[in-house]
Amino acid sequence: PLFEYAPAPESRAVVDIAPSYGLFVDGEFREAAGGRVLKTVSPATEEVLSEVAHAGDEDVDAAVAAARRAFGPWSALPGAERAKYLFRIARIVQERSRELAVLETLDNGKPIRETRDADLPLVAAHFFYYAGWADKLAHAALGRSPHNGTSGPDPRPLGVAAQVIPWNFPLLMLAWKIAPALACGNTVVLKPAETTPLSALFFADVCRQAGLPPGVVNILTGDGSTGAALVAHEGVDKVAFTGSTAVGKQIARTVAGTRKKLTLELGGKGANIVFDDAPIDQAVEGIVNGIYFNQGQVCCAGSRLLVQESVQDELLDALRRRLATLRVGDPLDKNTDVGAINSAEQLARITELADSGEAEGAERWSPACELPERGYWFAPTVFTNVTQAHRIAREEIFGPVLSVLTFRTPDEAVAKANNTPYGLSAGVWTEKGSRILAMADRLRAGVVWANTFNKFDPASPFGGYRESGFGREGGRHGLEAYLDV
Ligand code: NAD
Repeated sequence: PLFEYAPAPESRAVVDIAPSYGLFVDGEFREAAGGRVLKTVSPATEEVLSEVAHAGDEDVDAAVAAARRAFGPWSALPGAERAKYLFRIARIVQERSRELAVLETLDNGKPIRETRDADLPLVAAHFFYYAGWADKLAHAALGRSPHNGTSGPDPRPLGVAAQVIPWNFPLLMLAWKIAPALACGNTVVLKPAETTPLSALFFADVCRQAGLPPGVVNILTGDGSTGAALVAHEGVDKVAFTGSTAVGKQIARTVAGTRKKLTLELGGKGANIVFDDAPIDQAVEGIVNGIYFNQGQVCCAGSRLLVQESVQDELLDALRRRLATLRVGDPLDKNTDVGAINSAEQLARITELADSGEAEGAERWSPACELPERGYWFAPTVFTNVTQAHRIAREEIFGPVLSVLTFRTPDEAVAKANNTPYGLSAGVWTEKGSRILAMADRLRAGVVWANTFNKFDPASPFGGYRESGFGREGGRHGLEAYLDV
């Protein structure tokens, strides 16, 4: 057809990836003291993208020392001065967003439409948002308000923040961590995940471009051992971790008994609850967004669909028809809806859990779709006839796999939704406003979306109940993690 919209794949050429990268310490890139490196590959093609330094104990020492030296002058700057740097970073991220989006898509495997339309705009938004806070901390009622001649709250930064992040939203998780920490006057040592180190290193370059003083942001690439050494380092005042619940618990044990403050953003098993009065087509879009966005590798994914029994058939028919239209494949193609799984290990985890679903008696369905030969791929999958006892209903799969359960009454929906050790997210689909409020009240989840899903705003706090972690990121509450009041 004459007017068919078929844009060319986004060009790799917009990003210049060097064959190797060093650690970013004290404003400079340097090799790891031990000379170790790790390779990062494109999950869509298995091509090696680059080799990055693998930080060891000596590098952790150097980065924490640089952050400590930078802390005095950085925290002494008036908030308005710190804000200027954050605004500058936000603007540079916007200017370089095409380059950064392609880079992130190459390293992570997620569709360019997502990095371009979700990840990058949100990264800039977080820096803009927290830039706006930097000069208002003393006036923002972060504590008691002045009374009877006493002085008001006096928020102080904590010092050196050790931040460890996962691979599912590499640059966005970095922004969630770094923007509030800097706004409050802390300095940072951040460790990105071993499978997605590149965007953090490009961000280091953004910091240089913004003229950020050396040592305020330090980036240590490496694996879990680097993260463990960083978290345990005695020069660290604050630990912020996003990742698996298992590693979060380990970190909590490391930090216990020290002076370090801790926030944890961990796993989830979100329920997307569809009532019989919900607009079905809209709910289908929300379900697809909830579990196939970023290949389901989202901590707050709507991985359990709870559908009211009377509309189950209608909803599932519509969902299957919609899934048949999803395009799986080249993440750089602007028409792609579902990209590659981030790593061979993650693919193996998803495969094992999906197989357990079949073995335990649930019914498996995927749309017909051809998967590329090279790379790590998993077709969008729906399981029906799922019971609460099945592993796929209880364990976080972190992949494009939806487990469908049914309910008859709102009470049953609440009971099933809350029947999980996690408590990060939930969605409610209904025309009734009163029901939305009642459900939001009873669902034990840090965020409850109504007639939408996976909607993010830097002004809104995000975080978990129970094994999904503690502390909040985003909004005014996100500042509290980086301040003593
Ligand atoms: P992971 O816990 O294996 O790794 C996360 C990070 O921790 C990586 O940088 C890793 O190198 C590092 N790490 C590993 N072992 C460590 C140790 N002993 N000490 C210190 N650091 C260590 O998790 P993952 O597989 O990379 O990410 C997936 C998990 O992250 C999922 O469970 C997901 O739900 C969770 N997640 C949560 C949120 C949230 O906001 N709650 C956001 C994104 C991802």
